[in-house]
Amino acid sequence: MPDAVLLWFRRDLRLHEHPALTAALERGGAVVPAFCLDPRLLSGRHRSGSRTQFLLESLRALDDALRERGSRLVVRHGKPELELPSLAREAGASEVLATGDIGPYARRRDQAVARALAERGLALRLHPGLFVADDPAAIHTSQGTPYTVFTPFHRAWLRAPRRPVLPAPSSVPALPGGLRPGRIPSLAAVGLEPTASDPAPGGEPAGRRAMGRFLADGVPGYHRRNDMLAAEGTSRLSPYLHFGCVSGRELEERLAPGEGPEAFRRQLCWRDFYAHVLRHFPRNARSEHQARYRATMRWSHARREFDAWREGRTGYPLVDAAMRQLQREGWMHNRARLVAGSFLTKDLGIDWRWGERWFMRLLIDGDEANNNGNWQWIASVGVDTQPPYRRIYNPALHQQRFDPDGRYVRRHVPELRGVPDGYLAEPWTMPPHVQEQAGCVIGRDYPAPIVDHLEARREALERYAAAR
Ligand SMILES: Cc1cc2nc3c(=O)[nH]c(=O)nc-3n(C[C@H](O)[C@H](O)[C@H](O)COP(=O)(O)OP(=O)(O)OC[C@H]3O[C@@H](n4cnc5c(N)ncnc54)[C@H](O)[C@@H]3O)c2cc1C
Repeated sequence: MPDAVLLWFRRDLRLHEHPALTAALERGGAVVPAFCLDPRLLSGRHRSGSRTQFLLESLRALDDALRERGSRLVVRHGKPELELPSLAREAGASEVLATGDIGPYARRRDQAVARALAERGLALRLHPGLFVADDPAAIHTSQGTPYTVFTPFHRAWLRAPRRPVLPAPSSVPALPGGLRPGRIPSLAAVGLEPTASDPAPGGEPAGRRAMGRFLADGVPGYHRRNDMLAAEGTSRLSPYLHFGCVSGRELEERLAPGEGPEAFRRQLCWRDFYAHVLRHFPRNARSEHQARYRATMRWSHARREFDAWREGRTGYPLVDAAMRQLQREGWMHNRARLVAGSFLTKDLGIDWRWGERWFMRLLIDGDEANNNGNWQWIASVGVDTQPPYRRIYNPALHQQRFDPDGRYVRRHVPELRGVPDGYLAEPWTMPPHVQEQAGCVIGRDYPAPIVDHLEARREALERYAAAR
């Protein structure tokens, strides 16, 4: 009988389309599916109540799915480089299989685990499974260098080989006798509270239902509706993709031909692109990709303005709706993320890292590569460079274009519900009697704008020019 294999789950919390699981089962011996609650992730700088809640729900769903197949999830709480070698010894495992990750912390952790295992004569073997392309980092330019511009990366990514999609196993061998499975804790037991009041449910079954619905009804019109804020025109699969409850590779495979599916495939490529970027430029996690802005850019650290932004009290309805959607759902529409990000970094001139960190705290899909890449993109300091003026978004114009009937803004900012359509993007322009009729007096019921957009835009351009 071959030795047991430890299958270390991280953010690949599914049984469908799981290369490491398939490889573990092919060994033909016992398989020990395990998850290690890492205190450095639970309480580190990216800690998040709602994201952790989603994680715990996903672990429960994984445990249920394993039990249905004859096994169960083994849970340990502690540093993986200490817990995994001791679990491997307890289980009689000769190697540990996992899905490779790309972030700086994940790679350092895996190196530490690999060293600790090697001291006991055990190996850590990493498999693909997090991205659409098996290894987005391996895609490179004809000179062998990493890509820093999306469009050529996208072309190369479309040509990159794909492996066949793997089925979920119908059974998984029982755990070796005597192995203590451990328990999936409650959120309170890990010292966290949920931040979102209306979050998406975690787990592979919920992810697969959302994927099925989107493939049937959403994707054909995706290219027409994905920017419309009130339309529910996007997949909302980001938390499931982040935790691997849904496989990007399977999602791509199931796309039919057509304009909607192609536009959606391109968005999936952005995810692989930012993984590629962070893998090759790990220092981006802390500082600007563009060296010219690293030491010279004068970012504001004005607390009052930052608080107004994060609490949705800027006086710009679209920005406020966006920030309140984040509070409520732990998710925000991409167009709203762009406008909120532009407003923080350009209109308020606040350090993009403050916005990045706030998003990481609240977003259930909070993902180091995607969040960092997009924050640097909208702050005009990252890869895929464009002149800063191209990415200064006028919140009122964006609102008129992407929320023309005001449904999104009114949903998230109830004070503005009675404001007539013609004033909704710039409520401060309402004459006093209209404010009274609308039940929305500026300065009493809803704030006056905390900056003048056109003036702030001019100042932002001066700051960027001075920093060069
Ligand atoms: C400032 C800012 C911060 C962001 N932070 C995150 C984050 O922490 N985690 C995250 O997953 N996305 C982040 N995004 C990207 C994007 O907003 C979300 O992926 C998207 O809104 C998720 O909704 P959806 O699943 O309905 O997307 P869909 O439109 O249905 O897209 C499908 C999938 O493609 C990927 N995708 C789409 N757009 C992007 C993009 N611009 N960059 C990278 N991947 C993309 C996501 O995995 C998404 O789930 C951020 C964008 C901005 C502007």
